[in-house]
Amino acid sequence: MKIICIGRNYAKHAREMESEIPKEPIFFLKPDTALLKENNFYYPEFTKDLHYEAELVLKICKHGKHIAVEHASNYYDKVGLGIDFTARDVQKECKEKGLPWEKAKAFDNSAVISQKFIDISNLRGHINFSLKKNGEVVQKGNTKDLLFDFNQLISYISQFITLKTGDLIFTGTPEGVGPVEIGDRLEGFIGSDKLLILSIK
Ligand code: MG
Repeated sequence: MKIICIGRNYAKHAREMESEIPKEPIFFLKPDTALLKENNFYYPEFTKDLHYEAELVLKICKHGKHIAVEHASNYYDKVGLGIDFTARDVQKECKEKGLPWEKAKAFDNSAVISQKFIDISNLRGHINFSLKKNGEVVQKGNTKDLLFDFNQLISYISQFITLKTGDLIFTGTPEGVGPVEIGDRLEGFIGSDKLLILSIK
């Protein structure tokens, strides 16, 4: 399986990063070794500015390439909550040097996903999600604010990369990204459903 992550898919997040609002989806990959389903995350040694990015994560349920937007909803069936951990200091350095982001984004355990995923057929309309840090809401997102919706993302990615059953798509983070420290506790929600609990060790 592979993990595909979308960058700058909420305008307010693009602005807080002082980045341009993209005209087409931006994506990058994380390897399967980045996946973490446990409740403990160990702060890596190579960064002093590790940031959470709470994101809705789609699970691909069908093999596909060159998927049309109007058929894209057949290719994912579940949505979960994830954290795209980012070593912001390392990412800044990579960006400044025009280098790839992998060191900042694709490291071990940098793709946290909830144990439970929700059947998309059980969700109606726009999806609300949020992240709490130490009990306080730090990020709130709603799919109505996506620059590129789920179907557009699936269609776009599949022009370049074949999607396979089990692949995961991190669909982008809303504004409010910020640092974590050892001892912090993160809780992720879709609606009022608490799907993810993570302790930073
Ligand atoms: Mg992200």
